[in-house]
Amino acid sequence: MTFDPVRGRSSEGWATRTPSIVDRIASSTGSRIPFSVEFSPPRDADAEARLWRAVRTFERLGPAFVSMTYGAGGSTRDRTVRVTGELAEETTLLPVAHLTAVSHSTEELRAMVGAYADRGISNILVLRGDPPGDPLGEWKKHPEGVEYAEELVRMVRDLGDFHVGVASFPEGHYRAPDLAYDTKYLVSKLRAGAEYSITQMFFDVEDYLRLRDRVSAYDAEQGAKPIIPEIMPVTSLRSVRRMLELSGSSLPPALERRFDAAAGSGPEENRAAVRELGIDLATEMGERLIAEGAPCLHFITLNFARATSEVLERLGLTPDTSVGTAQAV
Ligand SMILES: Cc1cc2nc3c(=O)[nH]c(=O)nc-3n(C[C@H](O)[C@H](O)[C@H](O)COP(=O)(O)OP(=O)(O)OC[C@H]3O[C@@H](n4cnc5c(N)ncnc54)[C@H](O)[C@@H]3O)c2cc1C
Repeated sequence: MTFDPVRGRSSEGWATRTPSIVDRIASSTGSRIPFSVEFSPPRDADAEARLWRAVRTFERLGPAFVSMTYGAGGSTRDRTVRVTGELAEETTLLPVAHLTAVSHSTEELRAMVGAYADRGISNILVLRGDPPGDPLGEWKKHPEGVEYAEELVRMVRDLGDFHVGVASFPEGHYRAPDLAYDTKYLVSKLRAGAEYSITQMFFDVEDYLRLRDRVSAYDAEQGAKPIIPEIMPVTSLRSVRRMLELSGSSLPPALERRFDAAAGSGPEENRAAVRELGIDLATEMGERLIAEGAPCLHFITLNFARATSEVLERLGLTPDTSVGTAQAV
């Protein structure tokens, strides 16, 4: 089964074999809210072994889907495709492949979509990506590429029966001048054919609820599409600060003070205390999001299973056979 990037789609209906994320969430059985997890392509053999330990642990816990990020500037293109393909072929998990427009011509983007399709992947999270080097630096479109994620949503939809998700931003995207602007263009991506969005990580549930309200008020039909909140169980203050910095975001000041107190003033942060606070916080956020009717909880895992598993257990979202022996983090 091969994908033809010129004609755009194969005649064999490759992209229809897997369920969509929206269907998977809707058909999640029982009274439990579904959850999902985000992985990243591993850098080396050790990291790959760690990823697979996490994958096998989560497989037992039954996520609705798992997503695989696409490295900044397309830097992990081959690894993302390979590992996402392996998730599709060698596990019981439903993978969502991230795809970013940055540094790619439309021809390369079509070929990427084809590479996913050839591996039986029909769920794609479509993103613009950030400039390579300095993610907060000036955005420059590839001369033969696309300017905004919205165009890539259209392109992927035109290529076949793909199920497309997009990014949303509870605090507004850092390049959007205000929340009204941010809402307008999120709705444009949804109108272009995205079926759901996954949010950037956030730490104040009110920001998520206000995003949901803004989208519904702007366009009730698009507002009915799932906005899946992304939760980061913090285990290292230094690494979460770095991630927030790269996404033009920050911790709310009150929380910053709590994490600072937990980290202590020594040369090394008190990892145990930071982790305990991070797990408590992720659990509290999960409880509130469940009470507020979030459609699914999506966890950033950094390819470790333990912290997310603990949060899931505390939320009562694990099956009775529990967590196994994942590497601690
Ligand atoms: C859940 C999630 C997963 C992510 N995964 C990855 C990943 O795997 N790899 C990676 O490199 N990055 C990833 N990112 C980061 C993402 O690529 C960046 O946040 C990027 O800056 C924005 O991407 P976008 O798809 O939202 O862009 P867009 O939707 O194109 O928006 C970019 C900016 O342009 C504005 N805008 C959009 N459309 C228009 C328009 N038509 N006219 C004028 N202005 C417009 C928006 O308001 C926004 O300010 C992820 C983000 C999230 C939330």
